[in-house]
Amino acid sequence: MLVQYASGEYHEHCELEACHDCFLYVANGDEPEPLDMTYWDEADNWKASAVNEEWEGWNLMAKHIEEDEESSSFSWTGCEVCNRRLGGDRYKIIAARQLSPGEALLRLSKQPVGEKDESELETN
Ligand SMILES: [Zn+2]
Repeated sequence: MLVQYASGEYHEHCELEACHDCFLYVANGDEPEPLDMTYWDEADNWKASAVNEEWEGWNLMAKHIEEDEESSSFSWTGCEVCNRRLGGDRYKIIAARQLSPGEALLRLSKQPVGEKDESELETN
């Protein structure tokens, strides 16, 4: 989604379904305890480095949830932030990236613009 901030800059926003580990990391900077390898595979382990690498150049933010909105929903679909395939609760995360004027122009020619108030996003 293309979004114009009050400052006039254009940003690209993607809404992602994130696992609890990713959500806590994005919202608070908390990293989960490593999993016990007796029961789990190394691939199931959450790694900040993997997330940071995947989303380099993007700003990840927890999405503000309205009071009457569910904050999470259960899903067997993999987490869109860390790409792990574990089922579990999913939380909304916004990935935002500032577009260069050239990129913004290109995108503007292809899709309508949504207006977004920056205060709707909770940044850390
Ligand atoms: Zn995740």
